[in-house]
Amino acid sequence: MYKLNENQKKRINIEMLAHDHKICDTNFFETTEYKQLASEMIGTFPKYKCLNVNYKNCSKLALLNAGKYVVDKHTYGTDTRVRYVDMDSLTAELYAKFGETPKEEKYDEIIKYIDDNVDLIKVTNVPVELDMTRKRNGHAYNTWFYGRDDVQESFFKKMKPAIKKLSIEGLCNDDSKCTYVHEMYHALPNSHKGSIENLLNTEVLSIYMEKIASSELDPTRKLEKLEELTRILNTKNDIIDREHNYYNDIDELDRLRIETYILSTAIATALYDTYQKGNKEIKKEIDDSINGIFREEHTLEDVLQQYDATPERGSNIMRRHIKKLSK
Ligand SMILES: [Zn+2]
Repeated sequence: MYKLNENQKKRINIEMLAHDHKICDTNFFETTEYKQLASEMIGTFPKYKCLNVNYKNCSKLALLNAGKYVVDKHTYGTDTRVRYVDMDSLTAELYAKFGETPKEEKYDEIIKYIDDNVDLIKVTNVPVELDMTRKRNGHAYNTWFYGRDDVQESFFKKMKPAIKKLSIEGLCNDDSKCTYVHEMYHALPNSHKGSIENLLNTEVLSIYMEKIASSELDPTRKLEKLEELTRILNTKNDIIDREHNYYNDIDELDRLRIETYILSTAIATALYDTYQKGNKEIKKEIDDSINGIFREEHTLEDVLQQYDATPERGSNIMRRHIKKLSK
């Protein structure tokens, strides 16, 4: 499916083993729905430039409070603690105790040591770093505890990841409040190994919750519209990279990442549509179903199936958005 070279395979394998993901076959990119979306994105959508939107700036505290408001509102009563680690000090301890290239027979002991030293803290209490050197994005930093080349796969299969920090790039503003929610919804499933089956679905929950945040943090709904536009334009860029790879040499790992975003955005759009159109009971039910992922009752894929959140349905909704925006 993806013709990865040995190096790329190794990188992606560690990520998949640590989170218990696999790459599930999708025929979405061969469907009429995707092809129509791609041709409409590329053909009829020239007039928007989204990089310089005037979002209202805010303090870091306002950003943290906004993220906490959204997470608390949707997770009521659910344990939102994540595995958190002060990476630098634990790494130093591990190296001192087990060496920089630990022996395979020590793996169990190392993993126990890690688990004993990982803290469980609320996702809203994970330290947030503001990175002004980059723009318009965020990251949830996982930790692997050991380098990738000198440790066997069995280590990553056994170990559970932890989060070391969240990072928000650019200024604190209404947009980055949504990015903060997005990143917290990476940290949450990351602490529950196996909660997302398909590697290509790893952006679904985050993009979906970012949409929820955009609709709830601004009663005028301007933020929601801007979020929708930004996601559409991002998807357009991804589709161009996938379909018309003139300038960038996109390798197979890039293609995997690009397809992850296109597929995840379409699925998140479908789930969000169901949520928005649902009455109070449906909304509560969807929240609860998502929270069930963090109670380790089921996987993200079960939730998607329950609400018929397919990329085909999402594509058709995105095409309606394009039509509206192209007028
Ligand atoms: Zn993401």
